[in-house]
Amino acid sequence: MILKLLREQGHCTRTDLGRLTGLSRSAVAKWVADLVDEGLVDEVGTAAKGPGTHRGRPSTLLVPVMPNGSVAGIDFGHSHVRVAIADLAGTVLAEQSVDLDVDNNATVALDAAGELFRDLLTAIDADPQCVREAVAGVPGPIDRRTLTVCSPILSDWVDVAPAVELGQRLGRPVHIENDADVGAWGEARYGAGRGFKHLLYIKASHGLGTGLVLAGTLYRGSRGFAGEIGHTTLEKDGAWCRCGNRGCLETVVSSSQVRRQLRATGHRDEHGTVALVLRDDAVSRRILSEAGRVLGRVAADMCNLLNPEAIIIGGELGVGGEPLLSGVRESIDRFAQPATAEVVVVMTAQLGVRSEVMGAVAIAASRALEAPAPDAQAPNAQAAKFPQLSSRS
Ligand SMILES: [Zn+2]
Repeated sequence: MILKLLREQGHCTRTDLGRLTGLSRSAVAKWVADLVDEGLVDEVGTAAKGPGTHRGRPSTLLVPVMPNGSVAGIDFGHSHVRVAIADLAGTVLAEQSVDLDVDNNATVALDAAGELFRDLLTAIDADPQCVREAVAGVPGPIDRRTLTVCSPILSDWVDVAPAVELGQRLGRPVHIENDADVGAWGEARYGAGRGFKHLLYIKASHGLGTGLVLAGTLYRGSRGFAGEIGHTTLEKDGAWCRCGNRGCLETVVSSSQVRRQLRATGHRDEHGTVALVLRDDAVSRRILSEAGRVLGRVAADMCNLLNPEAIIIGGELGVGGEPLLSGVRESIDRFAQPATAEVVVVMTAQLGVRSEVMGAVAIAASRALEAPAPDAQAPNAQAAKFPQLSSRS
């Protein structure tokens, strides 16, 4: 438990470990002494003292000794593929992305991921055998029984088995996740969600999905389809959605919809591109805050259902900034139960468009650290190992 905690936190003092685990000082001291003797933990320097902690000896900082090897994180967005190679501590060694139409070109996107993977390994002069785990996030519902994409939402990917296809291109087993799930985990481990055990991450891009971190664990639902809020019905006679239904949330709020609204107001650069970063004028502000209010109306129901501590808005719309957030906040305050609304913090993703790739890296690192040995893994074995966050409360 102590070693797992240290690997998640990156570094700790003995006092931190006592607070986080609830163990006594003597128990923590014994565990740490054993780990230092085994060469799994190093004692390096001293921790900076916080306000009001002037007395006593300075605390020694404990740092986990990470095994050799690297991991790969792959993020398929709706319009990009991003790949990162990192060490087992989650430090990125190389990262690259390409823009392409992922939704409508599954084969091209899978090929691009394979090429980026090889290019990055070449760039850091590493061998594919050094990569102990690879995890990919895909922007569609993944059936966890068959590991296939199983919804018309991502029409060119239906019945595609990304784990198998990527495994062939990377020359090694690949673990598959939903993109909002890896985004949630990226923010929980490295971004705005650090320190929270109950959070909702809303990936708001061309589509909308939610990654749920509940009680420190990624919650995927019975078959892996939890959190598809983009297809919450707002108006039964509304616009047709790509899912075949009408009036879904993402027919009203998505990066594409907001761009269309901004374009109609003349919000574009000299190349005709519409950026979602706020141009400081009243009309742009109104469009983004209204998108936030509509999104917040659905988020308020999720707050009533799940009572999260934090809602993190990521994806392309996450850069919409304060007007979008204030709209979400306004609807949560209006429609969620007061006690529920009171405890939830609404934030934008700290990692920006990198939440997903960093979540994939984090899951890959957890799997690598739990694996008995790199060569003992079964090919394409997508084990149901759910990563856990440690409590900081
Ligand atoms: Zn829909």
